[in-house]
Amino acid sequence: MNPFDAFVRNLDPATGKSVHDASATKTQQRIDTLSAVFPDPESARSAAARTRQYVLDHLKPLVLSLEEQCHKNGIVVHWARDAKEARSVILGLCRQSCRPGAVIVKAKSMATEEIHLNHALADAGYDVVETDLGEFVVQLDHDTPSHIVTPIIHKNRYQVARLFEENNIGTYTEKPEELTSQARRHLRTQFRRAEVGISGVNFAVAETGRLVLVENEGNSRLSTTAPRVHIAVMGIEKVLPSEADLPLFLRLLAGSATGQRATVYTHFIHGPRKPEALDGPDEVHLVILDNGRLDALAGPYRDILRCIRCGACLNVCPVYRQGSGHAYGHVYSGPLGAVLAPALEGVGLAAIAKASSLCGACEEVCPVKIPIPELLLHLRDQGVREKTIVDPIPWSGFVAVATRAYLWRTSLQAVPMAKLVPNPWSRHRHMPRRDGRDFRRWFRERA
Ligand code: SF4
Repeated sequence: MNPFDAFVRNLDPATGKSVHDASATKTQQRIDTLSAVFPDPESARSAAARTRQYVLDHLKPLVLSLEEQCHKNGIVVHWARDAKEARSVILGLCRQSCRPGAVIVKAKSMATEEIHLNHALADAGYDVVETDLGEFVVQLDHDTPSHIVTPIIHKNRYQVARLFEENNIGTYTEKPEELTSQARRHLRTQFRRAEVGISGVNFAVAETGRLVLVENEGNSRLSTTAPRVHIAVMGIEKVLPSEADLPLFLRLLAGSATGQRATVYTHFIHGPRKPEALDGPDEVHLVILDNGRLDALAGPYRDILRCIRCGACLNVCPVYRQGSGHAYGHVYSGPLGAVLAPALEGVGLAAIAKASSLCGACEEVCPVKIPIPELLLHLRDQGVREKTIVDPIPWSGFVAVATRAYLWRTSLQAVPMAKLVPNPWSRHRHMPRRDGRDFRRWFRERA
């Protein structure tokens, strides 16, 4: 049995229900919001796909322009070829700014999950605190995010309440607003003590060097303004050409991710604090991460780099809904992760491309129209050819029968007997009943 199926088989039913219900709700909210916000959601998606494709086709000049504009704004740009280099750059910046033991607050960022930054900072002696509510819960529980937008989609409020009680965050309560207040009280203290704040980047504008962050809780604002030093980490593909692109992308991202017309907070970071400003960091650093992206850009899976990390493909995917993000065994899960993980780390991970029914729902909801099923098929083919996917079913036998008309005709006579043969498929599914008619005979009679 492959690891995905094994994970799903052992999944706690309460976890499965949390993931299924939350994903289904978000999918419906997405439909309602996009049709209310855009007169024609299809043309909005097409326009966004064209812009993201333009970015991939002109990545080098756009990123160089971003670097130049950031420099003019006082943002120091660092380049990281891989996860190790990114961790080393960020650790170096932290060591320049504060001593081990200092508090470092983190806003939600998939790029920092990808480079496993928290472990490196903790090993160096820093007190790293996740400040997004979901990420905070994940950190307390020594867990990992199960969704790129809603990290604790797999947990319910009772589990969160028990966790808070065990960790002295607050007394047990089942009221979500009280749980939120408990987390807020705890985190406010951390913001006051923090010496460095680390965040991701949703979009970086090449034309002006502005970094754009979206969020709903206000923790990104505090993480990027309260500490003396702000370090932002972004994948190299997160650049957008101009400010004029932002209205479309901000509305598409909010609508596709959480079914909102706009996120509660949108931050435009232009650089360090100006002398006349009341608050803000003294230093802003931008770490631009490759980590396999430039290789992916030159390969057959480059379209996945159009992704804006909205999570809509996870929410709509029937396989993700059955398994949760953890079943994929990678930081990036769902249809996005099934392509992005092997694209970044190599075809050795191609087996997760099998975790799809190829129903096409992911492509239908993707705000930048990534042809995910086509990429999954390509990956499966490459995985089989390079022997990183071993199919448990001997398809050569099927091919031998299906390509010989007389064998195929004969084998069809045996179909009703198939349900008598024990196999993993029929343990969970019912064979369709034949209604007695024979297609070939029917076709001959009509011909
Ligand atoms: S692949 Fe498309 S739908 Fe999935 S997270 Fe990325 S942008 Fe969203």
